[in-house]
Amino acid sequence: MKVTDDIARLRQEVLKANLDLVRNGLVVWTGGNASARVPGADLLLIKPSGVDYDQLTPESMVVCDLHGNVVEGDLAPSSDTASHAYIYRHMPHVGGVTHTHSTYACAWAARGEAVPCVLTAMADEFGGPIPCAPFALIGDDTIGAAVVETLRTSHSVAVLLQNHGPFTIGKDVRSAVKAAVMCEDVCRTVHISRQLGPPLPILPSDVKALYDRYQNVYGQQQEEK
Ligand SMILES: [Zn+2]
Repeated sequence: MKVTDDIARLRQEVLKANLDLVRNGLVVWTGGNASARVPGADLLLIKPSGVDYDQLTPESMVVCDLHGNVVEGDLAPSSDTASHAYIYRHMPHVGGVTHTHSTYACAWAARGEAVPCVLTAMADEFGGPIPCAPFALIGDDTIGAAVVETLRTSHSVAVLLQNHGPFTIGKDVRSAVKAAVMCEDVCRTVHISRQLGPPLPILPSDVKALYDRYQNVYGQQQEEK
């Protein structure tokens, strides 16, 4: 059955995505989480809450519905599951989500400041600034709503939550992890640039040209997108 096969495949992919957050230095201890939507089903897979990364297995990934209720699994899902579920409910094109407290992204979030688009790599991946959403407390749909509302008016696949940290989205969980890695990288570079003086903005027409090229032409062309 297709959904069963998809869940089996995604257990491996979601585990790898969560371990990639560690490999890229984006999380400490048991923090951070990556999830994937099950295509064609109102389900997601996410890592369990509070389990050491070296204890995670494909089987320990938790299957939830798109309201965060556990459908399959013995462990409690990540404490951010409700936010991931809200994003999947309201952004049908999103197949993967991450959340971390990566250092430089959090340094921008602590000041509630969007990261200006001053690097071609930012224009490529984010199509403009990385926006900052208002402060929101964990526990209900407030964080998910802040992420969705902020990303709706932006090309960006990353958003900073004020005083908190980044959420990223992608067509699948691997793309969402890539966005998290790129987000931290540009937050670090623009932060360092600021120490030396004000970084120069890139003209909006050049940002658009870079974004269009990277999104449509860059990389190995595939038959299907
Ligand atoms: Zn958090």
